[in-house]
Amino acid sequence: MTNTFHSELIAKHPDNHARVMKFSTPHGEVQTPAFMPVATRAFVNQMTPPQLVEAGSQIILGGNTYHMLVSPGMEIIEHNGGMHEFMNWNKPMLTDSGGFQVFSLSKNSKICKIDDKGAHFKHPITGKVIHLTPESSIQAQKTIGADIIMAFDECTPEQGGRDAALAAMDRTHRWLQQSIEAHQQSPDTPYGKRQALFGIIQGGSFQDLREQSAEVIINADLDGIAIGGEVIGFDMEKTREVIGWVRPILPEQKIRYTMGVGLMPQDLIDVVEQGIDIFDCVAPTRNARHGALYHGKIVKTDNWLRFETMDGDDRGRILIKKAIYKNDDRPIMEDCSCYTCENFSRAYLHYLFKDKLPAYHNLASIHNVHVMHEVCTQMREMILAG
Ligand SMILES: [Zn+2]
Repeated sequence: MTNTFHSELIAKHPDNHARVMKFSTPHGEVQTPAFMPVATRAFVNQMTPPQLVEAGSQIILGGNTYHMLVSPGMEIIEHNGGMHEFMNWNKPMLTDSGGFQVFSLSKNSKICKIDDKGAHFKHPITGKVIHLTPESSIQAQKTIGADIIMAFDECTPEQGGRDAALAAMDRTHRWLQQSIEAHQQSPDTPYGKRQALFGIIQGGSFQDLREQSAEVIINADLDGIAIGGEVIGFDMEKTREVIGWVRPILPEQKIRYTMGVGLMPQDLIDVVEQGIDIFDCVAPTRNARHGALYHGKIVKTDNWLRFETMDGDDRGRILIKKAIYKNDDRPIMEDCSCYTCENFSRAYLHYLFKDKLPAYHNLASIHNVHVMHEVCTQMREMILAG
């Protein structure tokens, strides 16, 4: 295992922009396209690390920086040897800069304010004011010890128009320089592992701003390039359009990451088709918790894939609380090879869900996360087969 980050292009789809990339980190290799389950509070709800591996996880988003600052706090994480050791995940890990959470919190100015220096928010329990700056964000991500860390950015709101998008972009570019300087002072974690730093393209829904931002991030010559903003992953039509604006200028050998994409299996297929390699989303585990289980067929069509939804389903999901599943002895998804589908029926999951039994969450998350990985596996196989 090397102690540096390295990425290379393995194969390209002949008719669209999809590709297979390989990247290596101090905790192992990843082949893309790769979905990253999110361990918001240092645990992917409700899956143990071996279950994640069995479901197909190669890399996770391990602990959101904002949440980790609030609890358990950086001292505890450092004392325990970093997040890999703390949550016992020994494969690649990415973490975020906290930018997205402070953006969400700043919608309530009593809890969080953002200015040119960074974000200032009140600890939800102690009330103590915490400053999150580019420097303190990078420092926290070093303590977390993820293999890939993110430059501190300001997420672009969709409300606010061009002025707001321009302001968030300019601030993101200034913070990028500060993030790079903080990272270069000590490129390794306290645990002796080299970290890769990704920059984030902002610019909202404006083509010229997105292109301008992409130029700045590309010129910074970082290890990978992310595309962020409130619109990404939320409005898939706009997400595809934004990727299409910047893709022509993105360097081929660098990993491309759309932040927060993965509400539905089809969303992964759509961004990979546009040339994206990695993505994260809390939706699969959140959907699972609320009883929405992915259901459809991964079908080949026009030399590419589609997640075909079924009539009577809720847009590619079955709602397991429905009485029609009470006596349904079929698995959630007929072709699914996950542990849950191979061993349990819809009737059993319906019963666990209706009676609010904790076992439900684990079995439901295993299925939803597996479906996301399965879609990635099939895309990868198809691209590799040429
Ligand atoms: Zn399944």
